Amino acid sequence: MIRRPRWFSHSIVDERTTMLTEPFVSDYCRANIWLVRGRDLDMLVDTGMGICPLAPEIETTPGKPLLAVATHVHLDHVGSLHEFAWRAGPRIEAPFFETMPDEATYAHMFRDLPGAVSELPRPGWASGDYRIEPAPLHRLLDEGDTIDLGDRMYRVLHLPGHSPGSIGLFDERDGTLFSGDAIHGGLLVDDMPDSDRTAYCATMRRLISLPVRIAHGGHADSIDGARMREIAEDYLRRNEG
Ligand SMILES: [Zn+2]
Repeated sequence: MIRRPRWFSHSIVDERTTMLTEPFVSDYCRANIWLVRGRDLDMLVDTGMGICPLAPEIETTPGKPLLAVATHVHLDHVGSLHEFAWRAGPRIEAPFFETMPDEATYAHMFRDLPGAVSELPRPGWASGDYRIEPAPLHRLLDEGDTIDLGDRMYRVLHLPGHSPGSIGLFDERDGTLFSGDAIHGGLLVDDMPDSDRTAYCATMRRLISLPVRIAHGGHADSIDGARMREIAEDYLRRNEG
């Protein structure tokens, strides 16, 4: 019998937060998936590539709903979104979730990516067959909306630049920000066809002004508020005036 490695890694971040990722996906497309447990509601922030089923990896509590939130429609954040019954995402990108077209998800980039994965998820798997299942949204998120987990509330921040609809989820009470690809400790991508550097600069200025204690991003390790502001200031130095 061939032993296949477990596709997802799980890391305990704190008593309510678990981070999952896909270690065998090329680092360009390897994104973070965040599970946040609340009193009345659990929240999943982003859903990875959709190469292997994610839902069986997510422990749910009978009777407690799970809201799967996509920070934006790029491939590495929405691949498994269709597996979840209750889905939310940015209103601005909502039409794309209905069909998941390549021009919005950039799935074609993964199909053409040399070394797309370092281990095959199953025999005969090929990146050229990669597709993203449609996952129409049930809840359309706008700036200022809140996601209430019962004992904790996340405010929706519209953080455009990386993509037009990119959102972050901010717990103003304890300074935790789920920042998606707007800001994180890895390489910030602002040269996709739907990126906008002017909007990105405004997002960075806004992030600098927020009382963020820790940012859990779409890629790389989490960063504290000081590091986040450093990254934002560095971006502004390179891209403004
Ligand atoms: Zn992205």
